[in-house]
Amino acid sequence: MEERLRENLRNLTSNPVQWDCPLAPFTTFGVGGPAEAIITVESSVELSSLLKFFAANDLQWRLIGKGSNLLVSDEGFAGVVLVFGKALSGITHLERAVSGEICLRVGAGCSLARLLSWCMDRGYAGLEFAAGIPGSFGGAVVMNAGAWRGEVADVISSLNTLSLSSGEEILSRRELDFRYRLWHNQGAGNARRLVLSGDICLQQGEKEAIQSKCRKYLQQRKEKQPKGHKNAGSFFKNPAGDSAGRLIEASGLKGKSCGGAMVSPVHANFLVNTGMATANDVQQLMQIVIEKVKEDSGVKLLPEVHFL
Ligand SMILES: Cc1cc2nc3c(=O)[nH]c(=O)nc-3n(C[C@H](O)[C@H](O)[C@H](O)COP(=O)(O)OP(=O)(O)OC[C@H]3O[C@@H](n4cnc5c(N)ncnc54)[C@H](O)[C@@H]3O)c2cc1C
Repeated sequence: MEERLRENLRNLTSNPVQWDCPLAPFTTFGVGGPAEAIITVESSVELSSLLKFFAANDLQWRLIGKGSNLLVSDEGFAGVVLVFGKALSGITHLERAVSGEICLRVGAGCSLARLLSWCMDRGYAGLEFAAGIPGSFGGAVVMNAGAWRGEVADVISSLNTLSLSSGEEILSRRELDFRYRLWHNQGAGNARRLVLSGDICLQQGEKEAIQSKCRKYLQQRKEKQPKGHKNAGSFFKNPAGDSAGRLIEASGLKGKSCGGAMVSPVHANFLVNTGMATANDVQQLMQIVIEKVKEDSGVKLLPEVHFL
């Protein structure tokens, strides 16, 4: 980016711009090269100005959450990566609670773990499925994150979004098309909607019962998921009526390695970074898995992980 543009960008942001910043620490995989710039955004007004600036100057950009579902290429990203700061990460009660429902507004930058613990402290039930899912609330909406037959779509009542072409929009639950690990109507290009916050509805429950359910889910994760190696959770989506992990294991790929990337011997749908993996290692391993599973079972696995 030319110095003139860098200077203009500095003037648009409330936080200092981090130039040529490694992205690996912004992801749970811990791989990938640098972004030309990383900006922590603190308001919708700031975000809107940035999107206009990027469009006017033909600059690439991407908003990320906590990077727990993201594989960044070894070349990094020749553009600006945006993350949400504290001011876009709050949790507030909404007045319009009816019939015992608890309604909250959650900033997209809030971590799911913080949201869950905040709700648990107050005995608010409905989010227990999220125990142990890393990531931000915004990322969880985009991914329709879920586990144990629960998913983010179950608790959302509306979203506050921003896109370059439509500005800020409030979308009611009826307008939101959530599918398996996907919010379908996010849009693309200038119409791509970014989640600023979401309203969720929960029920008043018993603190002890909520804690015990979360503990049980966390224990099951501990038993079934790999420990000690960086990863991005389930790498592939489960095909309808089957599980990606079962298919990968049936193809004899548990423990298969490519450089520093390995199919976890504990759970076959986890591709893990054994320490020195590159993004290229992970991508090569992904291809091997896709091809072998297709050959053996006829099923084409699709990545759940997003790419940058
Ligand atoms: C150990 C482990 C266990 C996991 N277990 C589960 C599980 O049980 N269930 C499950 O569903 N997932 C699971 N995941 C995956 C991951 O945690 C979820 O998908 C999570 O919701 C991603 O949130 P994030 O903030 O990290 O998103 P990121 O990885 O940062 O981003 C994901 C995508 O969302 C986009 N995005 C992020 N924020 C916004 C926003 N505000 N507006 C618009 N777009 C945005 C990004 O550009 C990217 O395309 C697991 C991951 C790990 C590492």
